[in-house]
Amino acid sequence: MALTWRDVRDRVVRALVQANGHALDTEEKAYAFAEQHLDPALTHTFGGHSACVELEPRGSADADQFFVCDMGSGARAFGEHVMARQAGRPATVNVFMSHVHWDHIMGFPFFHPAYQPEYRICIYGCHDSLEHAFRLQQAPPCFPVAFSQLTARIEFLHLAPGETREIGGVRVTPQKQLHSGDSYGYRFESGGKSFVYTTDSEHKLDNRDDTQSFVGFFRDADLVVFDAMYSLADAVSVKADWGHSSNVVGVELCQLARAKRLALYHHEPANDDQAIARILHETQRLEELTRNGHRIEIVAAYDGLEIDL
Ligand SMILES: [Zn+2]
Ligand SMILES: [Zn+2]
Repeated sequence: MALTWRDVRDRVVRALVQANGHALDTEEKAYAFAEQHLDPALTHTFGGHSACVELEPRGSADADQFFVCDMGSGARAFGEHVMARQAGRPATVNVFMSHVHWDHIMGFPFFHPAYQPEYRICIYGCHDSLEHAFRLQQAPPCFPVAFSQLTARIEFLHLAPGETREIGGVRVTPQKQLHSGDSYGYRFESGGKSFVYTTDSEHKLDNRDDTQSFVGFFRDADLVVFDAMYSLADAVSVKADWGHSSNVVGVELCQLARAKRLALYHHEPANDDQAIARILHETQRLEELTRNGHRIEIVAAYDGLEIDL
């Protein structure tokens, strides 16, 4: 959930109380105090953007290539990052789409490189409806700029689940997932590192084939970005068949697959920062208690988080 004015006010109030007695008469002193002494819950937020995750393959042969999963509202900020890094140089942006639900495509009309002729944007996915969905959200009366007016070279490219392709020096394998209208996860491998992006995916704990298939998909991954929208109780009761998963299932699959890091992702929009922090803490505790000689580092994804693999 994005911060409201009440959240900001409450944080300022708590920070002022914590700062009481400290002589913070310059910005330098205040910054140092905020960084070293303030409760992180006061200085951080998970943010409010919908799905958009960039991966930067190390030692990629071509510096003018970008790789990104989904075009949620975070795509606006990603676009600015691309423009700043390229500083006018042409580039190819490879986009891997989990599916075309609105929270995963809504950032594209605000993606600055789409309006620049020097950019080539390759949109990869497994859905036949991929191009239709991107065009539809920019059709009247929803948006003032039609898709056909975008000046970048935009291509839609079809991938087949289970088939590995090499794209810009990165090996990419899509995996079909259980979600309304289907969704697809992606496993990326490059320079000896592997990264799995798996969101909007429901797992039936009692389905052994499903479990085995995802354990194989996550196998030894350096990082798994995982749909942990619900608590386990919600996921198996009221919200069963809603197409999302839980933090507990994420830990279990990553343990079976011996993945190294797990990022809890696609947070429930009704959860505020405190609720997400609590879920993160509980998930880390669960991992500790059920650990069987293999440690998994667990984080809760937030806007702007960077993880080095
Ligand atoms: Zn969805
Ligand atoms: Zn979603």
